[in-house]
Amino acid sequence: MAPGSADPSPVTAERVEQRRRLVTAVPGPRSVALAERRRAVVAAGVASTLPVYVERAGGGVIVDVDGNSFIDLAAGIAVTSVGNAAPAVTRAVAAQAADFTHTCFMVAPYEEYVAVCEALARLTPGDHDKRSVLVNSGAEAVENAVKVARRATGRDAVVVLDHAYHGRTNLTMAMTAKAMPYKTGFGPFAGEVYRVPASYPLREPVPITGEQAAARAIALIEKQVGADQVACLVIEPILGEGGFIVPAPGFLRALADWCASTGVLLVADEIQTGFARTGSMFACEHDGVVPDLIATAKGIAGGLPLAAVTGRAELMDAVHLGGLGGTFGGNPVACAAALAAIDMYEQDDLPAAARRIEALMVPRLTALAERCPQIAEVRGRGAMLAIELVRPGTLEPDATEAARVARGCAQQGVLVLTCGTYGNVLRFLPPLVIGTELLEDALDVLAAVMIGPAA
Ligand SMILES: *Cc1c(COP(=O)(O)O)cnc(C)c1O
Repeated sequence: MAPGSADPSPVTAERVEQRRRLVTAVPGPRSVALAERRRAVVAAGVASTLPVYVERAGGGVIVDVDGNSFIDLAAGIAVTSVGNAAPAVTRAVAAQAADFTHTCFMVAPYEEYVAVCEALARLTPGDHDKRSVLVNSGAEAVENAVKVARRATGRDAVVVLDHAYHGRTNLTMAMTAKAMPYKTGFGPFAGEVYRVPASYPLREPVPITGEQAAARAIALIEKQVGADQVACLVIEPILGEGGFIVPAPGFLRALADWCASTGVLLVADEIQTGFARTGSMFACEHDGVVPDLIATAKGIAGGLPLAAVTGRAELMDAVHLGGLGGTFGGNPVACAAALAAIDMYEQDDLPAAARRIEALMVPRLTALAERCPQIAEVRGRGAMLAIELVRPGTLEPDATEAARVARGCAQQGVLVLTCGTYGNVLRFLPPLVIGTELLEDALDVLAAVMIGPAA
């Protein structure tokens, strides 16, 4: 384990050596063979970033079937914040699986589901009385938040932001902004979804404050939808797939105040930002905003599929008996994993680990931006950081450069994801337990790929 690592997890480190190491070409022969098998049976529409196949993973490292070790700056898209094989999580999973794998909470309930809801009530923003429902995926959580909001308000309309990402089901495709690859050819989409401008400081034609950006959105809602028709405004406190866009200060606060004054429910989609990722347990806390309903998923259960809607008791309980649920929702193995992961978030102070990652990465990315005219902005919070790439001297998005850098990093053993409406953002989502040396090495590789081998 690297000395001075952000959060040493020695048992994990023993299982998977915490260093970058390439022993074959990327992809190696076994990955090439698996890609061949895949082509024959896996739907072509399913994409993968890395061209290699995983054998094991842990801490901040992914090891492929040819023995290559990659530094993980993706964490399975902000999922494995506690690591891909956190011993506490794998122990809890094994123990729960040995007890029972499933009864269906709607058929024969169990304690683990209740305990996860207790943890959500304690950890999510606001000290009001809360209730939760557990489901399987982020999209399903967003769908259920909208169901609750409509039932509780008796209103139909759902307002979302430009650059939003809320999932791939029919309703959440309607709520998602980007057509390709998420929506193209998959319509018709669910109705009564309205989109208003977000706050995207880099791309405002004229600089405006967060309050002004909120006023712009609110004016559109009031004139084109009518506040009294709106069940909920769904926001990502930091826009995720849309480009890790941090709104101008005051934007979320102003929207929250407007929601409170109009009876529109504020739904925070914290599926990517939640669970310590941004340096606080939930990103809304940075803005002092308390949402009426909050959707969580990704980081909740150390890699097992689990998601939740948590909200004000009177709103959640406005739904009739039997109106919420699902066969697999709140699966006991996933709940046991969540309880172990949540314990790590709290006991190991992983929000502080995210802040340490920010303190290490932002100065290095800022220094890189000074040398790379293609970097228009370094942004993000905690361990949810990004650089937006443009053609030098302009704000013209450069998706080709983002793809080149991501591919170049992968070839050198560093897994980096892209995102953004324009596909021109490199995003960094390391596991919160990644070691300092590993992170430094990944940044060296990134710099070399961006500047060229002369660096
Ligand atoms: C990933 C994501 C979703 C969808 O979650 P799935 O589990 O993939 O359905 C929704 N909202 C945000 C903000 C996300 O990042």
